[in-house]
Amino acid sequence: MSERYDIAIIGTGPAGLEAAINAKIRNKNIIIFGNKELSPKLVKASKVNNYLGFYNATGVDLKNQFAAHIAAMGIGIINEKINNVYAMGDYFALMVNEKIYEAKTIILATGIEYTKPIKGEEEFLGKGVGYCATCDAPLYKGKTVVIVGYNKESIEETNYVSELSGKTYFIPMYKGEYKLSPNVEIINHKIMEIVGNDVVTKVILDEGELITDGVFMLRDSVSPAQLVPGLQIEQGHIKVGRDMKTNIEGCYAAGDCTGKPYQYMKSAGEGLVAALSAASYLDKMNEIK
Ligand SMILES: Cc1cc2nc3c(=O)[nH]c(=O)nc-3n(C[C@H](O)[C@H](O)[C@H](O)COP(=O)(O)OP(=O)(O)OC[C@H]3O[C@@H](n4cnc5c(N)ncnc54)[C@H](O)[C@@H]3O)c2cc1C
Repeated sequence: MSERYDIAIIGTGPAGLEAAINAKIRNKNIIIFGNKELSPKLVKASKVNNYLGFYNATGVDLKNQFAAHIAAMGIGIINEKINNVYAMGDYFALMVNEKIYEAKTIILATGIEYTKPIKGEEEFLGKGVGYCATCDAPLYKGKTVVIVGYNKESIEETNYVSELSGKTYFIPMYKGEYKLSPNVEIINHKIMEIVGNDVVTKVILDEGELITDGVFMLRDSVSPAQLVPGLQIEQGHIKVGRDMKTNIEGCYAAGDCTGKPYQYMKSAGEGLVAALSAASYLDKMNEIK
């Protein structure tokens, strides 16, 4: 059996990192998923004047301080994206492509996407629209796929899909270099709508359209309801109490994903509370046993 962690934290922004250091201080066996850059939103801020103790810092300064802090505490980041989390009763199964991690509690600190879903995206989710290209690539063997890439990580997924699919289109949603395989066609047009009947048949662009069997939307984070089936959502955010507990026993949430204001300090504060709540829950469980 694989190792079962006390706390799995999803997200490496201020919320997830603050949760990680506090869970570690409480001597819990933790695992944290995210990326080495920590948070795309952290590095983007040119000037931060509302993070106590860091007057006039840039987002990169904060990121470097956060990275040094977790390194000093021996916290390593697992550079993987969680595709789904399933509540299994007394533990959670976290899926990363074909791999499964197990944890007794989870803290969701996945941030929030500022971009709205594309028209048709939610309607065709699971009917040709997906969020994990590498997971679903085998379904599109020999078929046509459109990949809408919001970040650098989407390049790797696109190249992998193109090995299996018949035709791969890539629609970039960010500026940068696209190191794509020669058989991937880059479409420099805006995607307006995903359409179909029972399943996806095409995407409408600001100029023209593409006939396709599947569309992958590859963003930094997926909607929490999609990530954790059964999670209670209120006005687009995860519903939590003052202890950062969600409607699912053992599942906590912190940061932008729980609601406004979207700020570093609020995120970190919630991460702290979530970690302490998870730790108390685990201690109670142990007492009962
Ligand atoms: C340009 C800009 C400037 C800003 N300036 C300020 C400012 O001056 N002051 C201020 O207080 N706030 C500022 N903010 C807001 C601040 O960035 C956010 O409030 C804060 O980063 C939220 O922290 P978080 O930990 O909730 O989420 P995030 O920082 O968004 O981190 C979430 C992390 O989770 C990861 N993740 C998501 N889903 C998964 C998954 N399924 N598996 C693995 N990892 C996953 C993401 O990749 C990301 O690394 C600014 C934001 C922007 C964009």
